[in-house]
Amino acid sequence: MTSLPHDSLWNKLLDALYPPDVACALCGRETLLGEDRLCSDCRVSLSPSPVLSCPHGLDGITAAYRYSGGARNGVRALKYQNQVRLAPFFADAITLPADWQIDCVVPVPLHPLKQWLRSYNQSDYIARELCKRYGMRQQNNLLRRTRFTRSQTTLNGFERAKNVSHAFLASPDARGQNILLVDDVTTTHSTLLACAMALRRAGAVRVYAACATAAMHDADKE
Ligand SMILES: [Zn+2]
Repeated sequence: MTSLPHDSLWNKLLDALYPPDVACALCGRETLLGEDRLCSDCRVSLSPSPVLSCPHGLDGITAAYRYSGGARNGVRALKYQNQVRLAPFFADAITLPADWQIDCVVPVPLHPLKQWLRSYNQSDYIARELCKRYGMRQQNNLLRRTRFTRSQTTLNGFERAKNVSHAFLASPDARGQNILLVDDVTTTHSTLLACAMALRRAGAVRVYAACATAAMHDADKE
């Protein structure tokens, strides 16, 4: 009854009845999926990020989706529910402008304690996928988060900037490099700007940012 052949036959039967790719890539619901492996609800809820105006302190900024609907669910699942399989989904949707000159890619770091608690950095996974697609080099050791900052979600723009300013420290190896920062969600860009400031202080030349999603201040709640 418990012999291996029987078990494997049983598993094959289960796979046939219940294939592993029946769940929507974003919400995990088991329903009829399109070729993009999304359910129709998630597909219609995805909206591309509006063109972001580049803040002073960055040399360019782009985001794939607006932080709402399925994209918001997806980022939250990637961040808090170990759904690292979603990193390729978001990386596929990020288009880097052809005129960006990038020497290396740096994911926005978590504080080491937070990374230890969460066991991974979601932005690191997105950065890895982007590097594969564009043939870029990733260098996580260029930037460290030195302060354990409180979650940005309940703070306004000014408070966010204050919360993360001086939270990052860049390595002298950043000198002379054009760097692409990668993050999962940007709202006021305060985290990206604090990273860029630290990198420039260490001698980085250009600092760009690519994000999986962009939240519109009041409309898209984190
Ligand atoms: Zn879905």
